[in-house]
Amino acid sequence: MQVLNRTLAAVTVLFVLSACTTNTTPSPNATATRAAAPAPTATQTAPAPTPQPATPAILAATTLAEATPSATPALASTPSAAPTACAAKATPAQTEGPYYLANPPAKDSLVEPGMAGTRVTLRGRVFDLQCRPIAGAKVDVWQADAAGAYDLKGYRLRGVTTADAQGAYSLATIRPGLYPGRTSHIHVKVWLPNGKTLTTQVYFPGVAANNTDGIYDAALLAAMSQAADGSEIAELNFFVAP
Ligand code: FE
Repeated sequence: MQVLNRTLAAVTVLFVLSACTTNTTPSPNATATRAAAPAPTATQTAPAPTPQPATPAILAATTLAEATPSATPALASTPSAAPTACAAKATPAQTEGPYYLANPPAKDSLVEPGMAGTRVTLRGRVFDLQCRPIAGAKVDVWQADAAGAYDLKGYRLRGVTTADAQGAYSLATIRPGLYPGRTSHIHVKVWLPNGKTLTTQVYFPGVAANNTDGIYDAALLAAMSQAADGSEIAELNFFVAP
């Protein structure tokens, strides 16, 4: 019996030891699991992918930088907050008429000393149909003087100005006089850097002859305001499909 008891005791001890060992095993496992969870390994694994995403990030930046047109719209949305008129509708083209002279001089002002007429600054911005400013667009202007006469021998009241990086242009001039059949108007050619051209005209609100001019288009009416010096500002944006 003693032998049997000892055997049983031994077996019991072995069983307990075995159970302890089995219980101990899960612990390391748990530790391993925790070790994996805090995953310094995972953390190390993360940095590995991180540099990889970092590369795409750089590539993305490069892509944006290269995709200037794509990047521009994002930037354009800032200035386009101003042009509420951005309905992506192209500015209507109008007849050039018989008085255009090619190769006008670059000017910021068409006003000459002693020139008669109400001073007005024609200004605005040149956009494409997505309201992105068209930097470097040329705004080529010609018009009649206050008496309704065109200079057909020289470049009086003729000139071309260049839009800045925001597509903004500005040209000081005078209110054009009327001539038979026409209301007050300023002829404009917008030359895009890619060579495309919009030929149109700008009109002034409140001119009685607007109602009898067959060429007049209310879509080309300038928005009027007054400058600090009391002169007029006539504003019209041009929307041109590149
Ligand atoms: Fe004309």
